[in-house]
Formats: sequence, structure tokens, C-alpha cells
Amino acid sequence: MIDLHCHSLCSDGTDAPAALALLAQAGGLKALALTDHDTLDGLPEFLAMQSQVSTRLITGIELSCRFLSMELHILGLFVDHQDPAFRNRIQDLQARRQERNQRMAERLTAIGIPISLQEVAEHATSRLVSRVHFARALVKRGKAGSQQDAFARFLGEGRPAHVPFEDLSPADACRWIKEAGGVPVLAHPGRSANRAFRWEEALADLKAQGLEALEAYYPEYSPREEQYFCELAQRLDLVASGGSDYHGKMKVGLSLGVGRGGLHVPDQVLENLEVRRTHRT
Ligand code: AMP
Ligand code: MN
Ligand code: MN
Ligand code: MN
Repeated sequence: MIDLHCHSLCSDGTDAPAALALLAQAGGLKALALTDHDTLDGLPEFLAMQSQVSTRLITGIELSCRFLSMELHILGLFVDHQDPAFRNRIQDLQARRQERNQRMAERLTAIGIPISLQEVAEHATSRLVSRVHFARALVKRGKAGSQQDAFARFLGEGRPAHVPFEDLSPADACRWIKEAGGVPVLAHPGRSANRAFRWEEALADLKAQGLEALEAYYPEYSPREEQYFCELAQRLDLVASGGSDYHGKMKVGLSLGVGRGGLHVPDQVLENLEVRRTHRT
């Protein structure tokens, strides 16, 4: 069993990177990838644990892109977190994320919830501030009953305080990841659009933009959806990858490796992804 998608407190999870390595070992995982949103900050601490655990620890990141007016997340597995050009690009994304946060704070203020970025940042566990931290601030203020409710009322797509990521295209995300020696994987495709969405066409287009794999194993999928995405991956010659998207206490009822209990990402997935790695000279 392996898990190729999780978050630490360096983005919007609650566990330290070292704690994730220990948790993976305790759960008997053969491999774990740390894929924080828009940051490589957790990776040195995570990789330093390799001498203490037999679980293979893999570098990763999760980037938010815009595609056909939809928000898509692309994981970069095996990226070289010390690559200077990649680090610069990620730093740039973080600056744009800060600008987006400022705009979300302005939108909330405009609808009668005056909130400062400083107040939101108090709910973050690192310098990366995401909508999750806005949600927590809104719950603390009594403006939402729960994190979920805060997304439903204010922060989700199409809601009054939502500001989409406009900047990054899937083509650029895939290129950046490959130039850093990584493999681009479309995260949780089934979550980004309704069931009528034509994934086959979209995935063929994304493959032409550099995509190598998609998550076919994900806690929110039914067995039918898992089968659908596995078959689609095979037809399009993309690797079927997967992971729990564990966020610690930020996503209740979800465990590393097993998701809500039924997740099982086959070990073979890792070998299939290895074949797609970019070997830089
Ligand atoms: P951001 O990267 O700032 O757009 O924040 C997105 C993060 O918010 C995701 O990675 C999830 O962890 C979380 N999230 C997204 N939608 C919801 C939701 N409906 N309820 C709770 N958390 C959510
Ligand atoms: Mn998240
Ligand atoms: Mn995601
Ligand atoms: Mn994620």
C-alpha cells in the first residue's frame, strides 16, 4: 500500500512533515509523497526522516491551475525541491496567492465582514494562507457553523468571497514540474466537475499539454468512479495514480494510506510513475 497525496502544516494540513513520515511507517505504507499546496517548505524535514523509516519518502507539490473555467489541481511527484528555477516559480505563485488572499479579504469586507489578512493568518500554521484558514477565521467569528459551511456560504466556487486562481495553465504547471524532474499528475479529477463532464476529451487535451498521470484512487470515489478513471487512464496511456489527500485534523475521518477505510493504492503505481520521470542531464 502506498499514498501519493497528503498535506502537512506547511500548507493546510495539521501534522508536521516528520510526523507524517512516522505515521506512514506505523501504517505499513511502502511509500508516501508529501504534496503541500504551492510550497516546498516541508520537504527538507520530511526527507530527513528517510534514515528513520522504511517507508520510501517522495517529494511532491500540488499546484492549482485554471482549465476551461474550472479549477484543476496538478501534483508534481518526484520534483527536485532544490532546483533553483522551480523554487523561483513557486515563490512567484506564493506572491500571487497573497494577492488573491488580499482580494478575498476585500470581498468579505464588501459584504459586511470586515476581516484583515492578519486575522486570517492567525489561523494558518505556516506562512502559506489558503481558503481553509479563511474558513476557520469565519467560523471563529460566528459567520459560519463549520469549515464546510464557510465554503458553502462564502468561499466555494461562485460564492461571494471566492477569487479564482487565474494565473497558472495546466501546460505551464506540467512544464515546470517536468523541468524540475517531476511527473505531473492530475489530482482528484472527479471532484472538479459534474458527472456529465467529458473527461475523456479533457484528459486527452491535458495529455497533449504534458500530463502523465491522473488520480484514479481517491477517498471520495465510488468503486465505479475508481474503475472509470482506471479504464480512462489505460485508454489514454496515462498512469493511474492515487492518494488519500490527508490533511490531519483539517479533514475529519480521513487517514493516511486508507482514506475513509476503503482506499488502496497498489504498490505497482509507483513503478508505473517512475517510468515517466524526466531524466535531466
Ligand atoms: P485554496 O488553495 O486557498 O484555494 O484552498 C483550497 C483548500 O480548501 C483545499 O485544498 C481544501 O483543503 C479546502 N477545501 C476546498 N473546498 C472545501 C470545502 N467545500 N469544504 C472544506 N474545505 C474545502
Ligand atoms: Mn488543502
Ligand atoms: Mn486538491
Ligand atoms: Mn491535496
